[in-house]
Amino acid sequence: MNDLMEKIVSLCKRRGFVFPGSEIYGGLGGFYDFGPLGVEMKNNLKTFWWRWMTKSHNNIVGIDGAIITNPKVWEASGHVKNFVDPLVECKKCHHRFKADDISGDKCPDCGGPLTAPKIFNILVPTRLGVIEGEKTDAYLRGEACQTIYLDYKNVLDSSHLKIPFGICQIGKAFRNEVTPGNFLYRQREFEQWDLEWFCHPSEMEKWFEYWKNERMTWFKSIFTHPENLGFYQHKKLAHYAKKAFDIEYQASPIGREMEGIHWRGDWDLSGHAKYSGQDLSYTDLETSEKFIPNVIETSGGVDRCLLFLLMDAYTEESDRVVLKLNPKVAPYKAAVFPLLRNKPELVAAAKKIYDDLRKDPPAGGQVAWDDRGNIGKRYYSQDEIGTPYCVTVDFDSLEDKKVTVRDRDTMKQERVFIEELKDYLKEKLD
Ligand code: ATP
Repeated sequence: MNDLMEKIVSLCKRRGFVFPGSEIYGGLGGFYDFGPLGVEMKNNLKTFWWRWMTKSHNNIVGIDGAIITNPKVWEASGHVKNFVDPLVECKKCHHRFKADDISGDKCPDCGGPLTAPKIFNILVPTRLGVIEGEKTDAYLRGEACQTIYLDYKNVLDSSHLKIPFGICQIGKAFRNEVTPGNFLYRQREFEQWDLEWFCHPSEMEKWFEYWKNERMTWFKSIFTHPENLGFYQHKKLAHYAKKAFDIEYQASPIGREMEGIHWRGDWDLSGHAKYSGQDLSYTDLETSEKFIPNVIETSGGVDRCLLFLLMDAYTEESDRVVLKLNPKVAPYKAAVFPLLRNKPELVAAAKKIYDDLRKDPPAGGQVAWDDRGNIGKRYYSQDEIGTPYCVTVDFDSLEDKKVTVRDRDTMKQERVFIEELKDYLKEKLD
């Protein structure tokens, strides 16, 4: 594994961001659990995405669909037939690779000869029911977005939305990846955030460019080094697509794809209309025009985004490791320390500030407490998990009612009135 990846994987486990799934039983390839810090960071990220989608745009609504659907869905979507990955295996070291990732006919690991590609369907099957012989075959959803197409008509009928409009969702997807690996990058269970934007066929060009730019602007607003983000234009296109782009984290030592911007035309709604026998067309009430809406999709990986944010924020300086995470996604917004743990008056004053910050915005519960070791060790510990501000209560605080606030990135310290601390942090964190 690459050096940076090794450091990230180790930090994630040591500090409680991400753990290998079912580790006490030896783990299970391609499954991970988010620990106390990881879940805070992931929730911050998802909330930021959700608010931006549904609150910054007045014509986007959300859903939360079921993971298991009628299996016909996956026939209609083409996944039962086409959701396949060709796999090659090295005859010498038996390592397996996605055929698409290999350029020659030799094993990239040992130079051995490779088998001919074998085709595998990567949908994850499951069985429903309790009585053997009466069980029904189903699938865990291979991509979250299908539920949006299934609910499109219900959303339309239960709301006042008019085209163009969007439906978004964050949810789990499952794939029997032939080569799970690279930590969160290629898992068998992962989370996606999708927007399906329904519009008139004549407006596809305009909206495609709009969403391509909107999504890039959004990602740039949370990465530490936005210059590491770029577009990849697909050369091979699905027959219904006019163009397709990926938003990539281009400094990644492993894969780069983070989100796809897809031109889906009327492929999905027409497919589901045909298989279900339902009318999924849209009627414009002003012009009476009836048509199948065309769709632009933005489909991204929450876990991949989180991994890339960690990579981008990871910084080694002469005497510290610091995650220069955007405060919006950092697991803790602030940490509070009493200078000494054995001085009850300092501990009491610090606890009051800690409780206050935990209850109210701007920190909104995401505040750490640390009274171990010395101040230097506590700063080191908070830097490593990306806490933007550390607040220390010392003996002077009891007299002048001020605390020392230390900035993670500049390491500069300021004395701030306890009374003004919330406003100070609010301004900084915004
Ligand atoms: P890849 O080419 O890497 O297999 P994909 O093009 O099949 O990805 P999509 O089906 O477009 O991916 O899914 C949308 C997003 O979901 C991807 O851009 C990625 O961020 C995320 N994603 C896809 N597969 C995985 C996986 N196995 N583990 C984690 N995230 C994934």
